[in-house]
Amino acid sequence: MRGGARPAGPAVSGWAPHRIGGPATLSCDVLVIGSGAGGASVAATLVEAGRDVLMLDEGAHIDAARAPASVPESFRRMWRGSGILAALGTPPVAYAEGRCVGGGTEINSAIFQRAPDTLLDDWAKRYRIAEFGAVELGPYYDRAAKVVNATPPPPDAGLPTDILRRGGAALGWKVVELDRGTRRCVGTNYCSLGCPTGGKQSMTATQIPGALSGGLRLIADCRAARLRLRGGRVVEVTAQARGADGRRHRLILRPREVFVCAGAIHSPALLRRSGLTRCVGDTLRLHPTLKATALFDEVLDAHDARLPLTAISEFMPDRRIGGSVTQPGLLAMSLAEDWAERSWLMPEWRRCGQYYTMIRAAGTGTVRPLPLAAEPLVRYALTESDWTQLARGATELARVMFAAGARHVYPSIAGHPGWASPEEVLAQADAPLSRTRTSLMTIHLFSSLPPGERSDGVATDSFGRVSGVENLRIADASQIPEAPGVNPQATVMAMAYRNAEAFLAASGTETRRTAFRERSAA
Ligand SMILES: Cc1cc2nc3c(=O)[nH]c(=O)nc-3n(C[C@H](O)[C@H](O)[C@H](O)COP(=O)(O)OP(=O)(O)OC[C@H]3O[C@@H](n4cnc5c(N)ncnc54)[C@H](O)[C@@H]3O)c2cc1C
Repeated sequence: MRGGARPAGPAVSGWAPHRIGGPATLSCDVLVIGSGAGGASVAATLVEAGRDVLMLDEGAHIDAARAPASVPESFRRMWRGSGILAALGTPPVAYAEGRCVGGGTEINSAIFQRAPDTLLDDWAKRYRIAEFGAVELGPYYDRAAKVVNATPPPPDAGLPTDILRRGGAALGWKVVELDRGTRRCVGTNYCSLGCPTGGKQSMTATQIPGALSGGLRLIADCRAARLRLRGGRVVEVTAQARGADGRRHRLILRPREVFVCAGAIHSPALLRRSGLTRCVGDTLRLHPTLKATALFDEVLDAHDARLPLTAISEFMPDRRIGGSVTQPGLLAMSLAEDWAERSWLMPEWRRCGQYYTMIRAAGTGTVRPLPLAAEPLVRYALTESDWTQLARGATELARVMFAAGARHVYPSIAGHPGWASPEEVLAQADAPLSRTRTSLMTIHLFSSLPPGERSDGVATDSFGRVSGVENLRIADASQIPEAPGVNPQATVMAMAYRNAEAFLAASGTETRRTAFRERSAA
């Protein structure tokens, strides 16, 4: 995030969500709740097939031309809970989600990765998911890659990226270049604040405007409160929407079909609030991530460079080492975990970089709505093997930083003295981490409504249809059966296209059956 003047942005995009004038009742063919990676992919597919689609999002639409100028402003306008949310446990895991039109894709780094083929095939078998696997998902991943224009990073991506390249090369570890969904990106490094130039190919830059021109109706600032069920069908959805007068109004929606795409936390929360509890929000998974601050001799100016666009893939999919957004405010927050010992690094901020190790954990968590509270209670517990993986990951992260030329490395563990040499790292290699002083975070959440035909542990059928409810489907990160070990957006989009197409195929058959019944009755 550059200091000084903000980069010049595009003109206002020319589209805006619909605003209601007061309390209203609306009907539609398909209601899509949530406009992130999953919801926008469903809406685009259904609009293209000629369906009458209404999409809601709890958050506001933030046009690129009016993107936030600072971290606090972005947290307030675009991040759920102003960026302060945690899954409770020992330790708690801080998590982040988008809350705006376009969801997480508006504040993410747009890194595009397919889940490993072996994992997809394994999930197909273990969860008994029909027509699922590397081959079956291939065309959907291709479509997602095309939509977001997934392309490799430029060779001159900057010093923070080179650090991982040279550390990996020195240790002989595999390094991958990370494709990103961008078009004419000028490298402002404002990705996680809301892209100010429209270069990041988020949902508001791609599928949402396309679907709006095809007839999609979109209502922003509109939170779905409850689904009302009768006779195994959703008959009504109640919501609260901010109207043109700035006041909140009650909205009643009468859709024929509903896709819930509110993300891995809020989709199960909405289902549970509506009385649907079987395997709902019982199997939340995430990628526990441990950050470290590394001090180098050279000036990195990471705040003024692109986010690191390489990753150490030597230990993937179990563990990955990558780079975080680094800028003075975020560095200060991180050093504040142990200010007495680490504040000396603050004046050295231009020579600091923040990197992380992320694990494909086996731990699971739960999501439970709380009466009168907007955010549900989220709990998460790591397993013993997760702690072993994290300890290994911390050692590997420190090793690669020293191999790239770091002088000091401090993991996000309060009271940890940090490492001053690679020898110190090796002397303490894989030492168990403190369970109460380690600060973990995640930006990847999934698996809270897994699909499949198993008799236990799945919330929907193979194509996202909720068990026991004829017209209710899920298409978002909650459907990814387990942690993929890679960035999830591509898999969310691929699975959403697949669920939307399965719905179209099934409803085509249904329409033909109804027409046949009507003809034969005549
Ligand atoms: C900081 C950050 C960086 C990331 N970087 C990457 C990356 O580089 N690459 C990658 O692949 N992934 C990345 N991710 C993860 C990725 O963005 C998510 O996995 C993805 O957006 C999930 O898609 P989704 O459709 O499940 O949910 P979301 O995209 O979160 O969309 C859900 C939407 O539903 C809305 N909603 C929720 N409840 C309701 C309700 N009751 N009524 C109406 N609307 C509701 C929300 O406001 C939100 O807009 C990142 C995430 C974050 C937070």
